Amino acid sequence: MTFERHRLNRRVIDDLKNRSTIGMYFYLLVTIAVLSVDGFYKRHFIFSLVFLSAMLAIAGFRVVQFNLFDKFDRINRRLNFFAFFTSVYATALTWGAGFAYFMIQPEELTSKMIMLASTVGLDSGGVVAFMPSRRTSVFYNLIMLIPAALIMFLFQVNNTIVFLIFLFAAYMILVAFRGNREYWDALENEHLLKVKSQEIEKISRIDVLTGLYNRRYFDEIFNVQWKVAARSAIPLSVIICDIDHFKPINDTYGHLAGDAYLKKIAGVLMTIFQRDTDFIARYGGEEFVILLLNHENAEAYELAERVRLEIENMTLFYYEHQIKTTISLGISTCIPRLRENRDNLLEEADKALYQAKNSGRNQAVFYDAQKAAEAF
Ligand code: GH3
Ligand code: MG
Ligand code: MG
Repeated sequence: MTFERHRLNRRVIDDLKNRSTIGMYFYLLVTIAVLSVDGFYKRHFIFSLVFLSAMLAIAGFRVVQFNLFDKFDRINRRLNFFAFFTSVYATALTWGAGFAYFMIQPEELTSKMIMLASTVGLDSGGVVAFMPSRRTSVFYNLIMLIPAALIMFLFQVNNTIVFLIFLFAAYMILVAFRGNREYWDALENEHLLKVKSQEIEKISRIDVLTGLYNRRYFDEIFNVQWKVAARSAIPLSVIICDIDHFKPINDTYGHLAGDAYLKKIAGVLMTIFQRDTDFIARYGGEEFVILLLNHENAEAYELAERVRLEIENMTLFYYEHQIKTTISLGISTCIPRLRENRDNLLEEADKALYQAKNSGRNQAVFYDAQKAAEAF
């Protein structure tokens, strides 16, 4: 999962849309206000009608687009994004044209000053709203302000105001760049945090020595598989394995040799249990546990027997030593019921393991209630 700065993905477009669409209502209100001041609209009726209609049409389009964004997005994302940006630039262009019209009027001082103040306010609002996209923010700002400044310069209306408009536009570009950088820094941090927490989540499930899942995650998965098996009324089997005479390996060859042996056993288990639903964990020091979903008793037993045989035939070559031992396994299967205590299944497998150990080790024993009762 890589992070691409400035990439306009769905999340960023959503941010742009949510930050900017509310502003449309203000545009409409401000349009009505600037046209009404001093009865401006009476003296510029056609312009006022066109200006107001254009703002109404764009606002209507943007509100519809805002509400149907998800639907359009499923039909054609590119077209949806295109429609969004077009409507955004149409807002700026309409306002920019209206602003220019106001500013070149020979009279109408009050209306001009109110229009200037309103434009400055709306422009800064737009720049802030579109900060997630530097380009949109900058273009929006320029389209709002520059047509008026150029036309005023052309008509030699008031060069001080022209200069101030340019200055303000430049300042807004700086604001856009800085805000944009901060937005993407925040987004990147959010991404890194997500990646890190996923990594930590993954690490917290793994046993460092063997690379198998650990006991903590086993408990979680056992819970899930118990429910899955209960709902579908299918068997769930548990195999608990314990290495025979493991302590002498440590004592004779050292702890590191013991560790190497545990890793080798983990490798064997991974080659034997390969179904998607098979789950292997290191249960304790030299004990392993396997969960099998939807295996018949005989199948579960056969798999356990395969483990036993492979370990019996396995040799760990450790420096000049050849280390060999065996493993004992206890198996238990049941068709779980939701309200039943799932620890019973573990206890049964453990009792079967105890029987295997008691009857001479190097055995796979299927849990048998009667034998278990005799043994305890
Ligand atoms: P049994 O056949 O009755 O199971 O005999 P055993 O020696 O295997 O049984 P026991 O439970 O007494 O010994 C377990 C040993 O496993 C004790 C401990 O030193 C060793 N052990 C536990 N965890 C680790 C580990 O992470 N690395 C190594 N090298 N040894 C471990
Ligand atoms: Mg043990
Ligand atoms: Mg042991």
